[in-house]
Amino acid sequence: MSPPLIIAVDGPAAAGKGTLARRLAATLGLPYLDTGLLYRAVARRVINSGGDPADAAAAEAAARSLHAADTARTDLRGPPVDSAASTVAAHPGVRAALLDFQRNFARTEGGVLDGRDIGTVIFPDAPIKLFVTASAAARGHRRWLELQARGVAADLAEITEEVRRRDANDAARAAAPMVAAADAIPLDTTTLDADAAFATAMALIQARLKAGLHS
Ligand code: C5P
Repeated sequence: MSPPLIIAVDGPAAAGKGTLARRLAATLGLPYLDTGLLYRAVARRVINSGGDPADAAAAEAAARSLHAADTARTDLRGPPVDSAASTVAAHPGVRAALLDFQRNFARTEGGVLDGRDIGTVIFPDAPIKLFVTASAAARGHRRWLELQARGVAADLAEITEEVRRRDANDAARAAAPMVAAADAIPLDTTTLDADAAFATAMALIQARLKAGLHS
């Protein structure tokens, strides 16, 4: 019997991973996990308890006491949590605390997981890995539009710089840095809307499944 299908969707902030991964999961009948929410929920816990996201012990304690319900909070998106999530995510103890939850999530039914290290650390044997990118300008603009839609006033240049800083932090950290797995399929969404990104990803996935790489 073949193992359950796992699709890893990694890449920098605001590249369109979440929208794409959610749609792939719905179409393929797989569970979906936004792993960024785990790090966001840890950051929120640290902030709310008056702690410092740079404090490794405080962040790890928050990660170890995380409940699934924490990821359902409505205050996990936006500039203060964005950068605090990137700060807590650099602590090896935080990553270790969240590892089993992510692996167990897809153990029986498989899943589509989006994040930064799904194809490199969480599921290095996933048969399908996408590394979704877009230009920094396009990603900054998308994040800015998201904030506008939520009624949050924001400066485009500042948001673009914040996205760039967060990516640099995520790519430079020693623990599970954001990097494309050697066998990941690159998908640049700079000039693609959500429908085109989905159609392109589905075609790539089907070609890979047909090539028999999902043993
Ligand atoms: O994907 P999202 O932007 O919600 O992730 C927030 C932060 O969580 C990222 O900037 C990154 O630092 C961290 N993260 C991570 N590994 C993952 C998912 C997210 O380090 N698998």
